[in-house]
Amino acid sequence: MSHIPFDKDVFLAALTRQWQHFGLTASNQMTEHQWWQAVSAAIAEQLSALPQPKAVAKSELRHVNYLSMEFLIGRLTANNLINLGWYDAVEKALAAHDVLLSDLLEQETDPALGNGGLGRLAACFLDSMATVEQPATGYGLCYQYGLFRQSFSEGHQMEAPDNWERESYPWFRHNSALNVDVNFGGKLVKQPDGSMRWQPALTLRGEAWDLPILGYHNGVSQPLRLWQATHAHPFDLTKFNDGQFLKAESDGIEAAKLTKVLYPNDNHQAGKRLRLMQQYFHCACSVADILHKHHLAGRKLADLPKYEVIQLNDTHPTIAIPELLRVLLDEHQMPWDEAWAITSNTFAYTNHTLMPEALECWDERLVRSLLPRHFDIIKQINARFKKLVQKQWPNDEAVWAKLAVHYDKQVRMANLCVVGGFAVNGVAQLHSDLVVKDLFPEYHQLWPNKFHNVTNGITPRRWLKQCNPALASLIDKTLKKEWANDLDVLKGLESYADDAKFRQKYQAIKRDNKIALAKYVKNVMGLELNVDAIFDVQIKRLHEYKRQHLNLLHILALYHELRDNPQADRVPRVFLFGAKAAPGYYLAKNIIYAINKVAEKINNDPLMKGRLQVAFIPDYRVSVAELMIPAADISEQISTAGKEASGTGNMKLALNGALTVGTLDGANVEIAQEVGEENIFIFGQTVEQVKATLAKGYQPKAIYRKDKQLKLILDELAKGHYSNGDKQAFDQMLHSLLDGGDPYLVLADFADYCRAQKEVDVMYRDQEQWTRATILNTARVGMFSSDRSIRDYQKRIWQAKR
Ligand SMILES: *Cc1c(COP(=O)(O)O)cnc(C)c1O
Repeated sequence: MSHIPFDKDVFLAALTRQWQHFGLTASNQMTEHQWWQAVSAAIAEQLSALPQPKAVAKSELRHVNYLSMEFLIGRLTANNLINLGWYDAVEKALAAHDVLLSDLLEQETDPALGNGGLGRLAACFLDSMATVEQPATGYGLCYQYGLFRQSFSEGHQMEAPDNWERESYPWFRHNSALNVDVNFGGKLVKQPDGSMRWQPALTLRGEAWDLPILGYHNGVSQPLRLWQATHAHPFDLTKFNDGQFLKAESDGIEAAKLTKVLYPNDNHQAGKRLRLMQQYFHCACSVADILHKHHLAGRKLADLPKYEVIQLNDTHPTIAIPELLRVLLDEHQMPWDEAWAITSNTFAYTNHTLMPEALECWDERLVRSLLPRHFDIIKQINARFKKLVQKQWPNDEAVWAKLAVHYDKQVRMANLCVVGGFAVNGVAQLHSDLVVKDLFPEYHQLWPNKFHNVTNGITPRRWLKQCNPALASLIDKTLKKEWANDLDVLKGLESYADDAKFRQKYQAIKRDNKIALAKYVKNVMGLELNVDAIFDVQIKRLHEYKRQHLNLLHILALYHELRDNPQADRVPRVFLFGAKAAPGYYLAKNIIYAINKVAEKINNDPLMKGRLQVAFIPDYRVSVAELMIPAADISEQISTAGKEASGTGNMKLALNGALTVGTLDGANVEIAQEVGEENIFIFGQTVEQVKATLAKGYQPKAIYRKDKQLKLILDELAKGHYSNGDKQAFDQMLHSLLDGGDPYLVLADFADYCRAQKEVDVMYRDQEQWTRATILNTARVGMFSSDRSIRDYQKRIWQAKR
């Protein structure tokens, strides 16, 4: 498909309708926010007026339905203008009104409909599917409140609701013809023929709210369809007639609750009833919509797997598997074997974690009470699968105890995905190997061809072209070739690493980006950063396994060194953090508090002026990432080996010329292979070493006693040195490090981490070598484009011959 030309007259006419709609008489009466609203709505209107591109451009491709409870899309207006290729034209058209496009774009509140990496991956994948012309629909939920807003009060995390004003978001399109009714609760009643019929207790309605996902310069627009819950019937007329006015709308009250708020947990399952209701609502609406479109295309149900794939982003949408079976069995009276063949050839599952606390298990009482028919179907899947397992492992209860879908009064969603789908993939090579070796070895024995790797990726449109326009333009001028949809082209920059003029330009851009970030930090925190220091950045959800506290211990080591020896030959550093902790994750919040209190002390110590600073930037989100990433010199990727499935922040930072300090975990392994070991700082225990340490019994207290510097640091924290004498301030963090048997081995990696950080200083002093390494990082990470990830999904899973 081709580029859609920008029509200035059509745009200006649409813009006029927008301010007239606001009740104004001239464009110059609009506030900055209304300008953003009006420009976005005017562009959205032009898109929807375009002739619909042929639904399926490449009809031989199976259509992908990407089911995810989270889409962390970030601001859309700038992204859509870039992908349309309209940015410059709109900028010019607005300049005639004395309006600066870049200012107006700052008015958009991030749609934060996700927590972290998993939701952001879904957003990058939609962008790439549109760009590589993989026909696709994204299916998610339209939360009224996204991830909470974070602020700090005396160092403590505060949470406020994130009302992103979905009601007036200009990019939405709504079509009430797509409404779906969804049932909950009730019971199964026996039919005269012996079969069971579901008699639900509650019916809610799902409304489809679509966002356009635009391919890069190719005219493709595909929907991200977000379901919003509302009442199925405006009033319960019987109750209304009975005079129970106030009870009459009770369905509506339930409905409004369902898609009110995103659960703020990352890599952790809470097991709450409302969360299961959200999951089912998401799945029921999406499955109904997929079948509706299939029917409209005049296709047979039996052909569903020929035309459609349903890709499950982690286990959150697993209930779609028994839901499709239910519809085929109960609504289409299909025999089990036929329904099973269709279902198990339609679903594919992406695993995102091996950590037990994140693997979803649902209490059978909860499943039965909310979804009695689905529970029944799950038991049938389990019983049939048991026969297969018993054939392979006769009388082996231990194997069955691992493989069962329903066991010990629990429904295990990951197992249901493996049994009920045709493909399972991990998200980086190391992780996919561990999925087979540690998580699902017996499943792999049963079905060796079901298991795949697809290493994650990031979209170069948002994560280079949009967030780092100066570097993007330098690359344009240098390579004179389109790279934004063909990231391997960046390899052409390798030879420029030896070009002093190019190095100087590359370096100047990094410095300008640091100045821009410093300006933001000055604005929101009142802190003046030293832009000549190394900007050392750790941005990701706050989690023990990601080890922000290991970073903190190194900061304290550096502080001690500089305090004790003012002549110490260390390069000035600015440590920057961005992270939200789940509101119920108290240890993570304690780590935030510790970082903030240490920051306060260091930033106010006159001895540290110009040498050491620490800033925890509040409310980390996509738009803040877009500012921090282009300004980073160092990328902290320091998770315990084996715990980070892939990471994608690591890719964004390397692409923008930050050097990684990292463990051999997740995609860091592949980044090291690509950039070369001389252009990355690897430290710490490997997966095998972590396993060995844990097996022989990890003794953090022994490390603490032996390492004088570490002991001093931890003792000072415990003595209230950073907390105005409060000796309990960091109890949770210190307990986890020293007495809680820390499964993340923070102290075990401390010494080697400090060693790697010293090497950072050594390389940074040689600015020529440093800049060379950063350029080579940009040049060599082309494979981490999410376009490549999508092509891997096509080859290995979606379009593979079966
Ligand atoms: C990329 C991204 C993440 C994921 O970061 P990791 O370091 O891979 O955990 C989380 N949040 C936001 C806002 C992101 O852009």
